This record gives sequence, C-alpha cells and structure tokens, in this order.
Amino acid sequence: MSFSAQVKQELMRVRPEKHCCMLSELSALTQTCASLRLSGGGRVRLVYETENPALAKRIFLLLKKRMEITPALEFKRHKRLGGRRASVLTVTEGDTRRLLVALRMLTESEAGAVYRGIPRTAMSRRCCRAAFVRAAFLGAGAVSEPETGYRLEFVSSGSKAETLMKMLEKSGIQALTAKRRGSDVVYLRRGDDVVSCLALMGAHRALMDLENIRIRRDGRNQANRARNCDEANLKKQLGAGERQRQAIVGYSLAHSLGALPKELQEIGRMRMLHPEVSLEELGQMLSPPVGKSGANHRMRRLMQIIGGEKTQERKDTHGQADAGFDGRDTHDPDAN
Ligand SMILES: [Zn+2]
Repeated sequence: MSFSAQVKQELMRVRPEKHCCMLSELSALTQTCASLRLSGGGRVRLVYETENPALAKRIFLLLKKRMEITPALEFKRHKRLGGRRASVLTVTEGDTRRLLVALRMLTESEAGAVYRGIPRTAMSRRCCRAAFVRAAFLGAGAVSEPETGYRLEFVSSGSKAETLMKMLEKSGIQALTAKRRGSDVVYLRRGDDVVSCLALMGAHRALMDLENIRIRRDGRNQANRARNCDEANLKKQLGAGERQRQAIVGYSLAHSLGALPKELQEIGRMRMLHPEVSLEELGQMLSPPVGKSGANHRMRRLMQIIGGEKTQERKDTHGQADAGFDGRDTHDPDAN
C-alpha cells in the first residue's frame, strides 16, 4: 500500500464528533469532491463524486448526521479512467440550497450566486481546522513515500487553494502553491511541515512510521560521521547526546514533537539527527543559529517537558535519567 493510501486509511478512522467539526469537514469535502450541476429551469443540485467508496460512505453519513440530508447514491463507470467505478451522491435542489447556506458557500441575499466561503468556525477553531485539513486531504491529498523525501500536497483551485493556504498557515504549517494541468496545487515540502500536518490531521501511526524511517536514514549518516571524529571526544559527547536522542525519539513516538513550541521541536529534531555533536555545534545548526547558552537553555526546557535528564553538562548523579519518558501527557496545547 502506498504511504498516501496508508495515511488515508488511518484518517478514515478519525470521526468528527462535534457539530462544528462535522460542518468544517463537509465544507472541505464539498470544496474538493463536489460540483454544482445545472438542470432545466435553472435548478441547481450539488453532486459529490469519488472513486473511493469509503469516502463516499463518509460523505453520505456526514450529510445525514449533520444536515439530515439523504443524498441519492448511484455508481458510474468512467471510460476515461479505464472503467473504474465512481460513487456519485446527488443532493436534491432544496437540500442543496440549505447545505450551501450552512456551509456559507451561498449568500442568502443573492440567491443563485455561489460564494466560496467556509463556515465561520472552520478558520477560528483548531478542532475545525484539523477537521477541514483532514477532509481536504481525504478528498484531494497525496503524500510522497517517506524514503523518497518529503512532499504532501492538495489539488485545489483558485480561492479554495487560498483558503487552504491560510488555514495551514494558521496551524503553523508553511505551504506553497504551484500550477499543474490547470489546477492549483497546495504543497508542503519541508519535513517539519509534513510532520506537523500529519499530526494536525491525526495520522499518528503514519507519523510514527515517517519518523522511524527518518531516524534510520539519518542513523546511517551518523555512522559515517562518527568514523571521522576523535574517538575519545566522541564518546564523551555521545553519552549525553545519545541519551537526549533516545529520550526525544521515545517521546516523538509516543506523542509526536508537533505539539511542542517550534524552537524546541527544532532542537529536538536536530538532536535526533546529530546525537554526536556538542550543544554548541547543535546551536549553530539551528536557523537562525544560537550560541552555546541558548542551545543549552532550549535543550534543558525540552528535556524538562519530555522527562529526559535535566541538563546536558551535569553528570547524572542520581541514577540514569536516560529515556525517562513514561507516557505522561501533561501538556495539551491543543485542548479546545
Ligand atoms: Zn470544531
């Protein structure tokens, strides 16, 4: 199974519970999988179409649960897509109007005119932003295989792409846009952004796999570097650096680093990649670089949060504090 399919399968299991999030998810699915069909007499119906039967079921249930709308379901074969079967959900004219108003895609005053808005809470609440991005990924997203680098993207167009960009930005994720065959593609290409986005959407299993592959790959680089270092010196640094690396890896597997303050995430990831360097060198690898005391300060804060040893330079006097992660989850900056 491709990594994209794996992420989607995992996200499919995340069910929006709150009313606000359901609407947010419907908004994203409507923007990515639906189109308006005009029929005789200027009547407009909203039609969802997807090749993914699980996604069709999800849309069906959301419409029913959140809007009390039961769409008509049919299947059709696409000649264009090599005879692949697509699920088609059609919403009646009256329900279409009601749904578009609820999604703020239609302003009631100028009936007929479609306003590509989003529900008010979709941008302002974190829970709803997560639901929106998750649904946009299910509808039009893809992510590259972790072995080949980092790229996560959404196929979108025009104002929808702008909305998605803004939403990602608000969640601390840096996105870029490109044109491809008449569509706008919103994409992330930094490892940290891909990781944050997977965390935001709730793909924790996939995130763990990604981090593992990343660590394994970087572990090989580290072995090469180690050979070129002065051994005695290396040993000394490895003691502290390696314990920190283990604590950080353990924590990221259990909780993901994505929820920590940015500067702590950065030094944590850098430490995972370079357990052998001194704190001073580690500080120089950050962007922007920080001095020894700055790096020391950040590492101490990170270790306090994740439950590793207290400081780097001090020798452990009371037992090995290494890998002191114990599954505690005391901070939850994402609450509400
Ligand atoms: Zn919500």
